[in-house]
Amino acid sequence: MKFIQTRGIDTNKPAKVTFSEAILDPIASFGGLYVPEVLPQLGSAFLEKHKNSSYKELAKDMLESFEIDIDGSVIDEALNLYDKFDDPSNPVPVVKVKDNLYVSELYHGPTRAFKDMALQPFGVVLSSIAQTRNENYLILAATSGDTGPAALETFKNRANVKVACLYPDGGTSDVQRLQMVTEDAPNLKVIGIHGVFDDAQTALKRLLASEAFKKALQEKDTKLSAANSVNFGRIIFQIIYHIHSYLELVRQNAITMGEKVYLNVPSGNFGNALGGYYAWKMGLPVEKIIISSNENNVLTRLIRDGKYDLRNSEVVSTTSPAMDILKSSNVERVLFDLFGEQRTRALMEDLEKHHCYELTSDELAKLQACFDADWCSGDEGKKYIKETFENDGYLMDPHTATCMKSYETRSNPEIKSIIYSTAEWTKFSPVIANALTGEVDTHDIDALKSISKVANLPIPPMIQELFSKEIAQKSIIEKEKIEEEILKFL
Ligand SMILES: *Cc1c(COP(=O)(O)O)cnc(C)c1O
Repeated sequence: MKFIQTRGIDTNKPAKVTFSEAILDPIASFGGLYVPEVLPQLGSAFLEKHKNSSYKELAKDMLESFEIDIDGSVIDEALNLYDKFDDPSNPVPVVKVKDNLYVSELYHGPTRAFKDMALQPFGVVLSSIAQTRNENYLILAATSGDTGPAALETFKNRANVKVACLYPDGGTSDVQRLQMVTEDAPNLKVIGIHGVFDDAQTALKRLLASEAFKKALQEKDTKLSAANSVNFGRIIFQIIYHIHSYLELVRQNAITMGEKVYLNVPSGNFGNALGGYYAWKMGLPVEKIIISSNENNVLTRLIRDGKYDLRNSEVVSTTSPAMDILKSSNVERVLFDLFGEQRTRALMEDLEKHHCYELTSDELAKLQACFDADWCSGDEGKKYIKETFENDGYLMDPHTATCMKSYETRSNPEIKSIIYSTAEWTKFSPVIANALTGEVDTHDIDALKSISKVANLPIPPMIQELFSKEIAQKSIIEKEKIEEEILKFL
């Protein structure tokens, strides 16, 4: 299978690339993205075949249907990382919360957030491609909290790959910061900068575009790459758990094979939701995909009104910070699938030039046939966290809680819903403690202890250990010094 481009082709890039090429250089012609030439059609026979499969068996067969240029043995090694999740026989438990409402828990990996679902196997795949080509890669990452820990964890001690991870000092939770600065491996460098997430992101973009930096890297025999969520190497691993979650409902006799369900996805950069969309196109019975947002509700407005409008919009900080995003990159792949390359290129150019694009009413109807959406404020989210805990005995994090609102407002209660839970309570504990008891904790450790007591849940060892681990990464610098610091590390 080859990969084609969402905005058509210019003369600099080949018209089609392999999976490996799309991974190493994820930006396509005119700033577009790579997408599979065709989506494999798995249909109901595939679902029937995997009714009783393990996660890994299902994953292997689904990945093989894409016919990618990665050895079966590498895929096996990548998928074996799911054995390190809490329950090796089922890395993604699906839990009934109440009638017709199920939560698919995507956070049982090493860093307790859903980024592990894709980044864990992606680390093996990327390192293997680098080794096959006998090339060395520097992965640059800027993080507001969840991607950094997951990227460091997956590339730790892997051959032919180094990671430099930038985070805003003071701009992440204690747990997220400790997950990064306690990572100790010779191929990892974590850099705190004085500034906010945007400063880290801007510095990263400047480095990615800098010829001088590329030249300095060349002298060190190193190429640049990125592990951000537009990389198809991550997306492909995000199709699997949607199919798995559906089959879990069949196994639990909650639905019969073929019955349609809602997929309700707390969304930021739209990778998770895109995985669900592809699963649907490949044959999963879906009623609709419901997109849940926080106060940064640009996706709600797009799906309800057909307008992607960033004029007068600024990112606001919320209680669900992993969704504080206005340019939701993976939406482009849905536009391409629905409207084709010419229209996608025109829309994306409008967004870049005028900070706005508008769909025609026909186009909006097509989009709404697949998606619905709502957004949830931080206060509403806290109310849902408390209510769901008190009434249903289920504790959810602030990202997952945004789905409760859209579940109530946008779904037909006769049809079963799968809500995707993207983080464990341990990652955003001050907000959750505040929701449950009203207390205001400035330190995660206090909030963790209090939730653990109120909810009678143990603090998982990989979180507990963070507070006594040695700090291995001590760089906290001005943003002007980043380049120098990275070159010193290399
Ligand atoms: C990254 C993240 C999201 C958003 O996922 P996208 O695939 O970018 O839409 C939601 N919740 C948490 C906790 C995350 O870390």
